[in-house]
Amino acid sequence: MKWLTPGGLVAACAVGAGVTWGLRWPGLALLAAFFLTGSILTQLAERRGPSRNARQVLANGGVALVAALLGSWAGAAGAIAAAAADTWATEIGAYSPFPPRLITSGRRVTRGTSGGITALGTLGAVAGAALIAGLTAVLAPRGKAPGFVMVAAAGVAGMLADSVLGATLQGKYECPACDARFERGSSVCHEPVRLARGWRWVDNDGVNLAATLVGAAAAMLGSHGPPP
Ligand SMILES: [Zn+2]
Repeated sequence: MKWLTPGGLVAACAVGAGVTWGLRWPGLALLAAFFLTGSILTQLAERRGPSRNARQVLANGGVALVAALLGSWAGAAGAIAAAAADTWATEIGAYSPFPPRLITSGRRVTRGTSGGITALGTLGAVAGAALIAGLTAVLAPRGKAPGFVMVAAAGVAGMLADSVLGATLQGKYECPACDARFERGSSVCHEPVRLARGWRWVDNDGVNLAATLVGAAAAMLGSHGPPP
């Protein structure tokens, strides 16, 4: 059981320390709930992928860190809800009896394709966002707690943004010699892969960062209204 690379551990400690500095122990508890439930779901699904590195940790936790340093419970909760929604959608969606469909076109895609969604995975996203929203309602100090529905909706909005960006802007690669498709530009099949769709500089980490930003912005706008 190895959830983080050494660099990932350093990044996770930095995010944890910053969130604790900004929002005190209730903020850390919220972050821990996301990290532990996500890691346990990954473990249960026996998807022992590579341990998370610093870049991946910051893609999921960087927006929450900045929001916490600014003292924004709504921003941090929205970002963490989005990260939880995306993680839960992936892990619970893996049990779907039906293959995912691309969120943009509805076309069937193979499991694990960025931008593919399933009904079960979407339910998982709602559950993950609702868990973070519920914990926020319990943990955030009176007067600073964003509404439950607002945080849950922000989390789901972040997950949807993740899927749309994953289906459109995220770089997708293919082997020049066969039909195999890849999500990493550094992959080598028969030959080094080449860009088939999307933008080379938008990878899964970039999409996760954008999705947590959408979650944070949605929760902050929903809590305070648009700036005058
Ligand atoms: Zn090939």
